[in-house]
Amino acid sequence: MAFTVKDGRLVRDGKPVKFVASPFIGGGFANAPRIAVIHFTGGGTAMSSANWFADRSRPAASGSSAHVVIDRDGSIVQCVALDRVAWHAGRSSWRGVVGLNGHSIGIELANYGNLRAIGGAWAGPGDRVVANPLLAVHRNGNPDGSRHPIGWEPFPAAQIDATVELMALLAERGVTEVVGHDDIAPVRKCDPGPAWNMAAFRERVFGGRREDGDNVKVVLPAAGLFLRSGPDVSHAKVRDTAFPRGTQVRPLRRDGDWLEVSVLQNGAPVATGWMRGNYLGDPEESVEEAVLEEAPVPRAGEGLG
Ligand SMILES: [Zn+2]
Repeated sequence: MAFTVKDGRLVRDGKPVKFVASPFIGGGFANAPRIAVIHFTGGGTAMSSANWFADRSRPAASGSSAHVVIDRDGSIVQCVALDRVAWHAGRSSWRGVVGLNGHSIGIELANYGNLRAIGGAWAGPGDRVVANPLLAVHRNGNPDGSRHPIGWEPFPAAQIDATVELMALLAERGVTEVVGHDDIAPVRKCDPGPAWNMAAFRERVFGGRREDGDNVKVVLPAAGLFLRSGPDVSHAKVRDTAFPRGTQVRPLRRDGDWLEVSVLQNGAPVATGWMRGNYLGDPEESVEEAVLEEAPVPRAGEGLG
């Protein structure tokens, strides 16, 4: 299973990918895009989203598009040629780049996103109940303003696998970074949200050739460290128990004293969230070192952060 490209059109296993052209596009990229942006559609099938992007009855000012939409079963519909700008990012910025449309490939994943509570269940549009939703607080705050965990539709393995496959092609074509819409337009956008494990995805796509090689830190306090959904103690714990001393984590970014990290087990990411950066050390750093002197003494059985 592999993707190739011919004249901007995706070819999968030798067959052209279904193409439903969107009129809501810009010109050619000034420079080959080096960023891919992951979205969820908030809706039904990939084809229904592709048809929405193709709907010429929408005013151009509110028209939108993405290069591809990937369905829950891993099938894919292309809407914009890979060498043309798609309108998927909106007002956005990332590491000094403002307005990501002109610099990125937009990948939509068919997914309801944040769900609504109905009765004892969680449902997407049209009250379609999602069987095993992920319950989580969005790291940038829930889109409905709530502060408790809400339901999110999980992404099936077939859909993730297809996205990894597509990214392999995009990486060959110069894409070096993958971000979520919620990374480049925080608060305004919440997709792909907590059900999308970006750390694990990045590992699968770029894992073999990360520049930072073995860039891991370890949990230092004897009581362990909690993983939280945001960068201070007001945010919910991602897991009820603390991660023990010596747990390896891979830092993703910093916010004040806190680091967003991917927690590793046997080198593979198992959870993503925030930890207090000053309680994380280099692997070779002795955990008995004086760095812990300033750490408050936690009550028995409790971790820090
Ligand atoms: Zn989006």
